[in-house]
Amino acid sequence: MTPQVDSISSDSELPATTDVVVIGGGIIGVATALTLAERGIAVVLCEKGIIAGEQSCRNWGWVRQQGRDHRELPLMVESTRLWEAMDARVGCATGFVQCGVVYLEETEQDVSARETWLEHARPYGVDSRIISAAEANELLPGSTKHWAGALYTRSDGRAEPSIAAPAMARAAQAKGAIILENTAVRGIETTTGAVSTVVTEKGSVKCSSVVLAGGMWSGLFCKSIDLTLPQLGVISSVLRTRPIPDGPELSASAPGVSFRKRLDGGYSIAETRGPTIVEIVPNSFRFGKIFLPLAWLARAHLRPRLSRRFLDEWQQSRRWSLDGISPFETTRILDPEPLSGALDRARKNLAETFPFFNQLEVAESWAGLIDATPDAIPVISAVDALPGLFLATGFSGHGFGIGPAAGQLAADLVTGNTPLVDPTPFRFSRFSDGTPIRPVVAP
Ligand SMILES: Cc1cc2nc3c(=O)[nH]c(=O)nc-3n(C[C@H](O)[C@H](O)[C@H](O)COP(=O)(O)OP(=O)(O)OC[C@H]3O[C@@H](n4cnc5c(N)ncnc54)[C@H](O)[C@@H]3O)c2cc1C
Repeated sequence: MTPQVDSISSDSELPATTDVVVIGGGIIGVATALTLAERGIAVVLCEKGIIAGEQSCRNWGWVRQQGRDHRELPLMVESTRLWEAMDARVGCATGFVQCGVVYLEETEQDVSARETWLEHARPYGVDSRIISAAEANELLPGSTKHWAGALYTRSDGRAEPSIAAPAMARAAQAKGAIILENTAVRGIETTTGAVSTVVTEKGSVKCSSVVLAGGMWSGLFCKSIDLTLPQLGVISSVLRTRPIPDGPELSASAPGVSFRKRLDGGYSIAETRGPTIVEIVPNSFRFGKIFLPLAWLARAHLRPRLSRRFLDEWQQSRRWSLDGISPFETTRILDPEPLSGALDRARKNLAETFPFFNQLEVAESWAGLIDATPDAIPVISAVDALPGLFLATGFSGHGFGIGPAAGQLAADLVTGNTPLVDPTPFRFSRFSDGTPIRPVVAP
């Protein structure tokens, strides 16, 4: 089921020409379109379903620098600054609050792993620190567990996935962007080897640049134009509670469970540090080798599962005629079944760790399919083989918080502005130029 998400008023006319077409109306596509429109660039965003209908309304809503790989930290530090100014920028609420984020640990060994991360993070000026059990209990009283310590970042926070990307999309429209829902992009046409036209189910639009921000669909789109983007999906399930008066403001992750307060006073809750369900699909074999280091790192938690998706993806066309129906039109919104086992464990772990939540009432539950790359770092990059094409995808389960800065970086690459941060770690070519794959497992 698709969780609550704000609607926007979709534009209806595809123009004949524009400067840039953005494919995908998740937070990354929307942040890219917003930045481009603010710079006076003509931009059309095409979304096959609804704005934020896939991962961008299904995530936990954490906006965190804490625990990020050093390759992402400079971009995430910038993103935190952009979130701080976001409500003023878009003229309405996105739910962003710097409520703090804490990772509670039960063993000295786990605290020491957090200390190691902290050493890596220090050069980036993040205000993360290790806190004692006493301080952790002060921040989050009433736990039944004896903490060995915790990692805490006061400047981290949360935003509301159900409203954030739609608010940014409306602001982009106000700045002149054309945003079309129910408009699948079928493919790209080229002239003298460079992007010249985008073909959608509603007709064609001439343009000089395209930003592919298609989330879990980016790999299939790339394959249709002879590019290899290694990408696999991970299912993640979430439940939302009804409002709980006087609950904690802080977002917390403890062994077995994470929670984050919602704007309506309820909580988004999920299992953490538990089994990671990876569905076996044809791409698992195609990309098996390049994903091996990540699989090895995550082996304690990995639970490969054969499901219907194997057959669906096996039968899915990899090529289609641009005047026929594409796979992007046959699935408007990717809506996997939530895993009831994961949600049951999350509830049980929460009630055992924080009895305060004993009486919670579940309002709804859902799942999302996370688009993972082999190193769990996104691709924000020009594509050398196809001038005019840019990728902004593969956010590997942590793209919501970094979304505003990732969109700005993608826009910088398109317009040739000085990039917000050094884009080298995000280059597409790292998967094919012999660069060793150095994966990060998101905590
Ligand atoms: C359960 C869960 C919890 C998460 N928690 C967090 C968190 O707390 N913090 C955090 O930072 N991140 C989190 N994430 C990750 C975060 O949600 C994603 O990284 C982020 O939303 C990715 O945004 P996106 O725009 O790249 O992709 P998406 O939001 O998936 O958007 C891609 C869009 O592209 C559209 N599209 C694809 N192909 C086409 C086409 N050919 N034509 C037109 N449209 C197309 C799709 O319909 C889709 O709407 C979580 C993810 C999940 C699933």
